Amino acid sequence: MLVASLFGALAAVTALGATGRMVLVWVPVVGRPIAIVEEIPGPETGPVCPLDARYVDEPAVKLRPDVLAAWQRLRTAAGGQGVQLCVNDGKRSREQQARQFADAVQQFGSAELASKYVLQPDESMHVRGIAVDIQPLASAAWVERNGVAHGWCRRYENEPWHFEYDPAYTTSGCPALLPSATGS
Ligand SMILES: [Zn+2]
Repeated sequence: MLVASLFGALAAVTALGATGRMVLVWVPVVGRPIAIVEEIPGPETGPVCPLDARYVDEPAVKLRPDVLAAWQRLRTAAGGQGVQLCVNDGKRSREQQARQFADAVQQFGSAELASKYVLQPDESMHVRGIAVDIQPLASAAWVERNGVAHGWCRRYENEPWHFEYDPAYTTSGCPALLPSATGS
């Protein structure tokens, strides 16, 4: 809904600008830095995960910069204990997330059903650049045990591979698991 109204407002401003009656100015939007992060796409895929060929290991370079630094610290800590982590999915743009949602609508037959399985762009922590899906599950389990020291926590009961970064976790500990990201 927010996306639709934002695009609508931009289209209106652009149309007025084209008539020459209005000077185009960028109207500051609350949370604009996050909005920019949300337009940055992540890799569509990556090299095969050397631990398990069912997964890939995407370059994590498009994560929010502080999250990328935290990710590198986590990976180094894991490596120090002989554990390799593969990023099966990391950063997505709004557009990439919207495409995943559209695919789910096709697969499940309605937006209502799709929304039980896939988040809209405004809701996904992958779009905000703070989430990674870690595979294989043995590696994810290591992160679940050790990630909090680096600000990484599992968040959902139904996604043992999905971790989110928040520096506050290092002092508060991980929050209780939620049943799922979609609330279904
Ligand atoms: Zn995820």
